[in-house]
Amino acid sequence: MSLIVQKFGGTSVGSVERIEAVADKVSGFVDAGHQVVVVVSAMSGQTNKLIALANEIMDTPTPREMDVLVSTGEQVTTALLAMALHKRGRKAKSYNGSQVRILTDDSHMKARIREIDDHKIRADLDSGHVVIVAGFQGVDENGNITTLGRGGSDTTGVALAAALKADECQIYTDVDGVYTTDPRVVDSARRLEKITFEEMLEMASLGSKVLQIRSVEFAGKYKVPLRVLSSFKDGPGTLITVEDESEMEAPAVAGIAFNRDEAKVTVLGVPDEPGVAYNVLGPVSEANIEVDVIVQNVAEDDTTDITFTVHRNDLKRAEDIVRASAQSLGAREVKTDGKIAKVSIVGVGMRSHAGIAATMFRALSEVGVNIQLITTSEIKISVVIDEKFLELAVRTLHSAFGLDSTDEE
Ligand code: ADP
Ligand code: ASP
Ligand code: MG
Repeated sequence: MSLIVQKFGGTSVGSVERIEAVADKVSGFVDAGHQVVVVVSAMSGQTNKLIALANEIMDTPTPREMDVLVSTGEQVTTALLAMALHKRGRKAKSYNGSQVRILTDDSHMKARIREIDDHKIRADLDSGHVVIVAGFQGVDENGNITTLGRGGSDTTGVALAAALKADECQIYTDVDGVYTTDPRVVDSARRLEKITFEEMLEMASLGSKVLQIRSVEFAGKYKVPLRVLSSFKDGPGTLITVEDESEMEAPAVAGIAFNRDEAKVTVLGVPDEPGVAYNVLGPVSEANIEVDVIVQNVAEDDTTDITFTVHRNDLKRAEDIVRASAQSLGAREVKTDGKIAKVSIVGVGMRSHAGIAATMFRALSEVGVNIQLITTSEIKISVVIDEKFLELAVRTLHSAFGLDSTDEE
């Protein structure tokens, strides 16, 4: 007998029929002799609807009340699934985050899990129940409801699997695994049999929202065996694993991630002297704006240009801050661009393959895509390009690195 944590995302519980189908699937695992803890998301679209309701009242509701509001979506699904299991003659019990006591810090809307009390869950499992837990939510030390950030039910699933030392954490979603790139964007994307935690973490951080970043961090840290599967069709899914040292021939590139969430700020013609980068970027970080890519270039006339990217939602604030400091720095001009995209190739195999960057840049140049910024780390290369070329760039790189599926597959 093994203990399995199964997380079902929004589409997988998107209607009463889907919830009944989940109940059948869970029943199958119980029949096979497993203990099952189920984590559910809100029915698809529900979280967005709740946020829209709040915004009908005001633009910036307090984070505390937002959490009270959005956490209700998951609670609905837990009860419906429990009922569907009861209808099938199963023992099942639903819990919200606070009832379990998923203790988090007090950062509303982006809380981090600190501790999970597993007593009630273990007792219920031991008495033959399926335990259903609302994803995405917890409670802080003072009893306030918190939520874990969009996509946070993945993290609830992994954290519960870690706390219960489950044999596997299964993330059921609307695709049958992790693909070489988003299959909604590239038809020839291919399902991966397995991907390393490191690669998955990069993919998630660089825009592949199939798993919440925090959930991958958690799984890596606590060595939770993690699998992404389809709730719609049977199959092996994708296993997220530790790197297999014996595998000499890891492909250079495992996958391609992209995002359209960033915007670019460029400060032109600042006198090139010590402290310039600090003077431009210091005030931005003091305003709690996260900066991603940073590039500095020196011109022949002893001035320098600094370009950096921020989240699109922060562009206006970043621009205002930089315009204010640019004046005192004697900068020639400040420019911004909200229509950029970042495309990244990811793979642990890059460590042992040469010429990956050259292949990437050649492939993009051959289809006329201009690269605006480049950043690299040991297992990824990212380029910032004009947003209108995003799909072309992803498709081109997908072929250039031999990731396209063949018809036989
Ligand atoms: P859920 O509601 O089940 O949590 P999400 O919408 O959060 O589902 O995540 C699944 C979606 O992630 C897929 O429908 C797919 O479009 C998208 N996605 C992005 N990148 C990838 C990738 N590399 N592999 C698989 N799916 C991806
Ligand atoms: N319902 C939440 C969201 O839509 C959490 C989740 O589904 O993981 O972001
Ligand atoms: Mg999700």
